[in-house]
Amino acid sequence: MKASAKPIRARAAVVRELGKPFRLEDIEVAPPRDDEVRVRIVAAGICHTDLVVRDGFNVPVPVVLGHEGAGIVESVGSRVKNAKVGDHVVLSYNSCGICTACRLGLPSACEQLIPNNFSGVRPLDGSSPLSCNGSMLYGNFFGQSSFATYAVAHERNTVVVDKNLPLELLGPLGCGIQTGAGTVVNALRFRKGQSIAIFGAGAVGLAGLLAAVAIGASKAFVIEINPERAKLALSLGATQVINPRETPDLLVALREASDGGVNHALDSTGRPQLMDTAIQALRPGGLLGIIGVPPPDGVLSLKLMDLLMRGVGVKSVLEGDSDPQIFIPQMLRWYQEGRFPFDKLIGKFPFEQINEACRASEVGKVIKPLLIMPEA
Ligand SMILES: [Zn+2]
Ligand SMILES: [Zn+2]
Repeated sequence: MKASAKPIRARAAVVRELGKPFRLEDIEVAPPRDDEVRVRIVAAGICHTDLVVRDGFNVPVPVVLGHEGAGIVESVGSRVKNAKVGDHVVLSYNSCGICTACRLGLPSACEQLIPNNFSGVRPLDGSSPLSCNGSMLYGNFFGQSSFATYAVAHERNTVVVDKNLPLELLGPLGCGIQTGAGTVVNALRFRKGQSIAIFGAGAVGLAGLLAAVAIGASKAFVIEINPERAKLALSLGATQVINPRETPDLLVALREASDGGVNHALDSTGRPQLMDTAIQALRPGGLLGIIGVPPPDGVLSLKLMDLLMRGVGVKSVLEGDSDPQIFIPQMLRWYQEGRFPFDKLIGKFPFEQINEACRASEVGKVIKPLLIMPEA
């Protein structure tokens, strides 16, 4: 199918000034280039990174954010092979496709990850498919900018999904859910019968829990202070939730509960003190996967001999070390088998309530806010 040649009108949530709320505006979305697809967004998840960027991460403004889009392909560029008009798609993070990491199937280690996801432009020529009254709007956020009724994405970060699936719910698989679940599956290489401790029960931590349960964890401990989230974690299969504020010594409690330690751990809190505890709670051969955003000057106090004697390690993980073209279909197979109920993390909001949705997420009222787009 050929790309339609015309720009299309869309409603978008624009950040004109960092630190300020999103503003809904009418914008224009250019037709896709040869290797791009234009997608009518049906729904888009809000991820923590959207909030971090809105509040001042180094991206140019005015910009359209959003990086958990799901929708229907409206037009495709002439060189696109893996998607056609009418396909249902989930949009994920983008990567260059030509560096060594990409060629080895490790796109989360792409050497051009930052320009392809955070520069606000197409890295090759500095252009953007988005404009407003004739002036350029920065876009291409995570190769999509899906806080809009239409988005331009790339062949590499567009994953075609089964039309029988509830498309509206699938966007969060593109980042937050993929990050948590992928860390357990791809980075920790978690095996059936192993135990895990998950620090923080937000969307990413709970996605990690879902993956550990789907694989067949012997025990899955969750460390969380919010009672609502604790309840949800238990309903999703956590063995026990430990509240560190009500526990005099978290390490002792964790070791006791796990008969001496856990095989692996995942931190989604970014708190160095909890990560120290997580490392000490690891059994020999264990790995701590770090996905929480730490304070800029955060440090870990690692005793190297202690790491060596137990053969344990620490790994920072981006996007769950996942190749979206492989891992999103894997999560969907689990979901269809009833083993991966990620939909239980989702709270829906109409697109117009994007600022309310962000607030609900920030105060912990909703785990994974999902914006439902108006019919285009
Ligand atoms: Zn690359
Ligand atoms: Zn994200």
